[in-house]
Amino acid sequence: MYGIEIDEQYKCCNRVHNTADMVIEAGGVKIGGGSFCMIAGPCSVESEEQIVGIAKAVKAAGAGLLRGGAFKPRTSPYDFSGLKAEGLRLLSIAKKETGLPIVSEIMSSADLELFEDVDILQVGARNMQNFELLAQLGKINKPVLLKRGLGNTLNELLMSAEHIMSKGNSQVILCERGIRTFCEHTRNTLDLSAVPLLKELSCLPVIVDPSHATGISRLVPPMALAAAAAGADGLMIEVHNDPQHALSDGPQALTPEQYADLAEKIRKVRAVL
Ligand code: PEP
Ligand code: MN
Repeated sequence: MYGIEIDEQYKCCNRVHNTADMVIEAGGVKIGGGSFCMIAGPCSVESEEQIVGIAKAVKAAGAGLLRGGAFKPRTSPYDFSGLKAEGLRLLSIAKKETGLPIVSEIMSSADLELFEDVDILQVGARNMQNFELLAQLGKINKPVLLKRGLGNTLNELLMSAEHIMSKGNSQVILCERGIRTFCEHTRNTLDLSAVPLLKELSCLPVIVDPSHATGISRLVPPMALAAAAAGADGLMIEVHNDPQHALSDGPQALTPEQYADLAEKIRKVRAVL
């Protein structure tokens, strides 16, 4: 065996030989290495009016990137599964109108060419171990936001990052979004200790999604503040102009006003740190 031998199987992002934080750039926004990234937007893109309106509101509140699902993995095949290509087209309009780079989930590498204007490709929790998708994303030159699977360990998450990085694409952002536990009070259980641990084990930026972690909008602000205090490199938060009528994940969505209020508190927590 030549070169350095490393016990852990993940090598590309291992802290052992990457002491400096990795800084990833998406559409002019820096993620990691001390800059805090605020990603916000609806679970699903629903209409031009909806996505452009939310984009303007979250930008005014200080968000640096816009999220919006166009391809939606749903537990039930009868639920709204996204506007697909049309959703991505509407996201592009919102990007043009606000200048915010966009983040959207890709479920299949067959759709890659539709994502040309998308700045960060999101791999959802359900696809964290879709190794074929990870391999394809390893061959492109674009940041990937890799969400932790609901039943996956940190080692498995880092190995999934390795699947992407070992193919040549080192631009991976890790996202803790809650795991499945016996606790029934929340949609998932936010594993906040994952943040300092992942940052200890790897050089990759680590962000937190308190929306899917809790599933309950009133729990999003306290968990978001806790994540910032725990050293997260950013937050991805679902925001909807009319949560009660949202086509997906309404119960966990903040209104633009609630988001603006939270963003202000996040700035205060960051200032204390
Ligand atoms: C999402 O971000 O809309 C989403 C589906 O998240 P997750 O894959 O974490 O469930
Ligand atoms: Mn969602």
